[in-house]
Amino acid sequence: MKLRNGPHGVHLFDRDTGINVLLDEIRPDRNAWSKAPRQVSIALLNLCDLHCGYCYAPKHKACLTPAQVLAWLQELDQAGCLGVGFGGGEPTLHPQFADICQQAAANTQMAITFTTHGHRLSQGLLDQLQGAVHFVRVSVDGVDATYERLRGRKFTALRQNLDRLSARIRLGINVVVNQHTVAELDQLAAMAADVGARELLLLPQQPTASVAGLDATSCQQLQDWVSSYDGPVRLAVSEAGADGLPTCDPLPDERGLQAYAHIDATGRLRASSYGTAAVAIEHTGVMHALARLRTISTIQREATT
Ligand code: SF4
Repeated sequence: MKLRNGPHGVHLFDRDTGINVLLDEIRPDRNAWSKAPRQVSIALLNLCDLHCGYCYAPKHKACLTPAQVLAWLQELDQAGCLGVGFGGGEPTLHPQFADICQQAAANTQMAITFTTHGHRLSQGLLDQLQGAVHFVRVSVDGVDATYERLRGRKFTALRQNLDRLSARIRLGINVVVNQHTVAELDQLAAMAADVGARELLLLPQQPTASVAGLDATSCQQLQDWVSSYDGPVRLAVSEAGADGLPTCDPLPDERGLQAYAHIDATGRLRASSYGTAAVAIEHTGVMHALARLRTISTIQREATT
């Protein structure tokens, strides 16, 4: 198991099973806390072959190299980071995607995960990813006609790919909750159980330049649905949009850049993919960029209080 020190104790994590154990009887000294965020996400590239209307991924051309990604992950791994989530754009479009996952798994102790639209999960790609990837998140916004309208791809094709994936790698389902999908949460939860998903991650729609955030009526519908949910698949919700939902945070003092950071496809470190402050990761490495981003975030926070 991988070990991480933090304000709540010693955190043990097994990437093969996803099991987390917190030894809160041991409280490491602050100087001994792990310096890296608990999780990082990395946008390997901005390119995607779908055109979802609510997409917030940047559209300019950008792509990271395997050497860059591996160097950052080795640094983060040594500084106590537990897992990386590759995204994009669509990460499976990266020409060296499988190689990046294999190298990351072989050269770090981190959990290797990625988020995908699920339409490129061929047997050949899964052959390369099995054993190197520990969890896959598939974005499924609505079912049947709703899905096909929002994503522009056949729902039946997606279902086949989910079954194929489920036989090889643990998976979760991500749902952007908006006025179109909120009424289909029962069907989505049933489908998640049917394909053997370990988690149903609810992502209440956030406002972007092209779409509004979740409206008040849909927000209430979501809260009612969560309150009455008794399905077998574990529910999770994004931090942005969790207000009003019954959540449990086992590590409430491990927040901000202690908990999470994002690297965009141009190699800039941010507090999240929405974060406005960004620091370019230079030859001095990702932990150096993290220290600079922490300083900027502190200055910004103090300026607004
Ligand atoms: S699949 Fe994801 S990255 Fe691609 S267009 Fe849709 S929301 Fe954007």
